Amino acid sequence: MTNNGKIPGEKIAELEEYLPGEHAFDDGQVVRSTAIGSIELDNNERLVSIKPNKSVAMPDVGDIIIGVVEANLPSMIAISIKYVNGKKTKSEVECVCVTRHIRKKNIALAQDIVRAEIISRINGTIHGSIDSPELGVLFTKCRKCFGTVVKMRDAVKCKDCGWIDDRKLSIDFGKSEFLNQN
Ligand SMILES: [Zn+2]
Repeated sequence: MTNNGKIPGEKIAELEEYLPGEHAFDDGQVVRSTAIGSIELDNNERLVSIKPNKSVAMPDVGDIIIGVVEANLPSMIAISIKYVNGKKTKSEVECVCVTRHIRKKNIALAQDIVRAEIISRINGTIHGSIDSPELGVLFTKCRKCFGTVVKMRDAVKCKDCGWIDDRKLSIDFGKSEFLNQN
């Protein structure tokens, strides 16, 4: 088993064996990475951490970020941060948003573009929120056919196959200036 090159959202330990340390979080069942790096085990404290491959600039609490959903888990999403307060960032940092209180079946899909607010930084893990109206999904595609979707009240409908799906949409969903960001 290789311990190097773990990526955000990847399982790094069973929750019965280790608790999340730095750059790690638990999704209720397993411990997952929130950074690109290698595993470090602390067998005294029973902590599993990720040592990031490079030191990175971290966004501050209150910053508004735009990023790509890397992992879509039952109670949270992990977002790879691409913009901080409107400025493009090259550092590959991730934030985790707890979503279990949001009454939606599909909060956001992997590869969706979302806007979030940074609410805390604990043990190297950045926590975000997509709760406010301006926060949430800015761009998504059809889950069935990857076609273009349009907003229908608080859901999205596929222009190609007609599939209707829910998302935690931002009020800015569909505004074209976000579509060409990468
Ligand atoms: Zn479709």
